[in-house]
Amino acid sequence: MDSLIERAATDLLKSNYAIALTGAGMSTESGIPDFRGPNGIWTKNPEAERRAYETYHNFLRNPKGYWEDVLSGRSMLGDLMSARPNPGHEALFELEKLGILKAVLTQNIDGLHVKAGNKRVLEYHGSVMKLRCPSCGTRYQREEYDLQGLMREDKLPPRCNRCSSPIKGDVVHFNEPIPSDVAEESLEEAMKCDLMLICGTSAVVYPFAQLPRVARQRRFEEVPSMKSTTVIIEVNAEPTPLTAEGISDYLIQGRTAEILPLIAEAAKKAASSQ
Ligand code: NAD
Ligand code: ZN
Repeated sequence: MDSLIERAATDLLKSNYAIALTGAGMSTESGIPDFRGPNGIWTKNPEAERRAYETYHNFLRNPKGYWEDVLSGRSMLGDLMSARPNPGHEALFELEKLGILKAVLTQNIDGLHVKAGNKRVLEYHGSVMKLRCPSCGTRYQREEYDLQGLMREDKLPPRCNRCSSPIKGDVVHFNEPIPSDVAEESLEEAMKCDLMLICGTSAVVYPFAQLPRVARQRRFEEVPSMKSTTVIIEVNAEPTPLTAEGISDYLIQGRTAEILPLIAEAAKKAASSQ
């Protein structure tokens, strides 16, 4: 494993535009379960997965009922609002501070990359810390609305300050389109990066799972101005479809909260001796 960590640090230092792609395996060590790992929510409770497919439809049909469910129920992922970043998140912030990592594209909805300090974070599936108007796309910090107060006064659903449409949580549900701003920016990042560090995702949820494949595609295209091809590194507890399909160049198998700090430390050491 040590040699793979050195290799990742060297690849990161050589890169011109490195980005990270992250998934639920980044946050399990902040106490948030994943979906499809051995102890995942869907693995243990397939019925919960079926119900999750109905949430977006419920919002469209009855936004008031959607909000009553949201505000009275407990999140399946536990108390996401008070979760704290772990050493894996901190390592990605460290790599950004070193000027190596240019963006974090995450499927996670827990807001932990933002809490860790990273400046450019594209939250592909939204964030529990925000609300969003599906009509005009405006996002709000959750605390801009007194949701419990609106429920007490029977004034749900909350409405957009800009266009008056009912607003929902920013989190993207099954069957809901990915907001176009974040979808477009993420695709641009995947097309221009020359290194992709993929951390803790089973890479089976589309269209996010398309992004590593877009980056890999560059290997097969003739781009004369490009000096090198895109390097794709995976950090995961187990091999994934990206490993099996040869999308990633190599897998560093283990815990994100252990491996990412080792990579960041090795990169920092190598950068200071250059
Ligand atoms: P996933 O559950 O499908 O896969 C997680 C992967 O990470 C698995 O391969 C698992 O083996 C690995 N893993 C788990 N813990 C790890 C650790 N400590 N170190 C290294 N690897 C570890 O998750 P996904 O691919 O992100 O897809 C799930 C979808 O559900 C996402 O789109 C996301 O929106 C949502 N989700 C979000 C959160 C969150 O915000 N923290 C949590 C669960 C699900
Ligand atoms: Zn609006």
